[in-house]
Amino acid sequence: MKLYNSITRTKDEFIPNEAGKVTMYTCGPTVYHFAHIGNLRTYIMEDALVRSLEYLGYDVNRIMNITDVGHLTGDSDDGEDKMLKGAKREKKTVMEIAKFYTDAFFKDCEQLNIKMPTHVQPATGCIPEFINMIEKLLEGGFAYEAGGNVYFDISKLDKYYVFGEHNADDLEVGVRDGVEGDANKRNPADFALWFTKSKFDDQELKWDSPWGVGYPGWHIECSAISLKYGGEYLDIHCGGIDNAFPHHTNEIAQSEAFLGHKWCNFWFHVLHLNTASGKMSKSKGEFLILDLLKSKGYDPLAYRFFCLLSHYRKPLVFSYEALDNASTAYKKLRNRCSSIKEEGEIDPEAVAKAKEAFSDAVGNDINTSLAITAVYDVLKLNVSGATKRAIIADYDKVLALDLLTPFAAEEKKEETEAGDPEILAQIALRAEAKKAKNFAEADRIRNELAAKGITLIDTPNGTTYKIG
Ligand code: AMP
Ligand code: ZN
Repeated sequence: MKLYNSITRTKDEFIPNEAGKVTMYTCGPTVYHFAHIGNLRTYIMEDALVRSLEYLGYDVNRIMNITDVGHLTGDSDDGEDKMLKGAKREKKTVMEIAKFYTDAFFKDCEQLNIKMPTHVQPATGCIPEFINMIEKLLEGGFAYEAGGNVYFDISKLDKYYVFGEHNADDLEVGVRDGVEGDANKRNPADFALWFTKSKFDDQELKWDSPWGVGYPGWHIECSAISLKYGGEYLDIHCGGIDNAFPHHTNEIAQSEAFLGHKWCNFWFHVLHLNTASGKMSKSKGEFLILDLLKSKGYDPLAYRFFCLLSHYRKPLVFSYEALDNASTAYKKLRNRCSSIKEEGEIDPEAVAKAKEAFSDAVGNDINTSLAITAVYDVLKLNVSGATKRAIIADYDKVLALDLLTPFAAEEKKEETEAGDPEILAQIALRAEAKKAKNFAEADRIRNELAAKGITLIDTPNGTTYKIG
């Protein structure tokens, strides 16, 4: 399998540390608000990665944290505390906010057919592990205390900026934007491991530590949680591209300083989903959520389909027009697949050949759009219905689009209730023709629709239609 690695900046052959097994870490959501559909793009594409690995025969141990403490709105230990901000907004406690939005996140995941990770760990549940790691970093001379806080000293590393496109200039930008520098830091890129001198007097969650009562910085949670459930050697670490710097850079710094050896081999970064007006951002409060799409009548799996149509390493622009197109294509494809009759024998040769094509697609840096094209190819095959269904069931282990499940009768009804805009337009034209006593024209429209298998039903409340 070939996988792009943000560290080497090339597509490399994926070889796990232990044959047949993959240990994978995913940065989880910061649970102070709903996940927006940009965040969900990242989790959908990471799910495609997990499912592709499993399809190719690997046993995947996936770990995800839930950020419920320590994440500030600025990336350089500046700005507001995100959890506190959420609690104030909703006049609830931080833990109430965390629970509500963690549940909401997993409800979104379920509707998008995103698999639950093997381990899910809220950061607030691992404070002793963070303290232990920080103590070792202090002992090893990689960290220092200043002004009551503990910081990681990036000058102690041979190489800190591991992701080439990010460098010291990124921090300079923050400074230019008027962010107050932290005078305690020896180097501008040093980062907080533990805060005691909080800028937030009303910080709700605080713990005892050797350095005083306080709370952890954001980055330490991912290193400590990954080590706890994934051991010292990680195969793949995932996240959205915004996490590459400084978050992942800092994770690598502290993990490798702690371990004394290389930590993670592959870095998988999903490019952002943006709207035409720019980046979607939870902290700016301007974002779209899955529930909103649902309230507008979109199937969550149509959004999954929309995401899978594009490669994870390309930025994706969201528009309702693009989602409409994806949604129509998804409905058609699922209707076509789910209506294939289970007839004839399964042809093992055809199944094996199809599997090969699909493995090539997902095994080439998770090429999900090619994987979807493979489904259309199956529909064109000259094989039995049973064979087609077997192949599609196999592909759907990765795509997870419920392709063989017919839309529920309820949904079909809803679909007809709302109606196909084209048919509704024809019905309106026919009503107008009837009103003008142009019955020939009215009949022509009826017959034209009938030829397409659409039957019009006149009722006292107007005309509806049925297909087939
Ligand atoms: P957060 O809840 O802010 O910690 O982010 C959760 C995940 O979503 C992280 O992996 C982020 O890198 C990712 N992410 C944030 N914004 C976007 C976006 N606009 N498009 C795709 N992924 C994003
Ligand atoms: Zn992380």
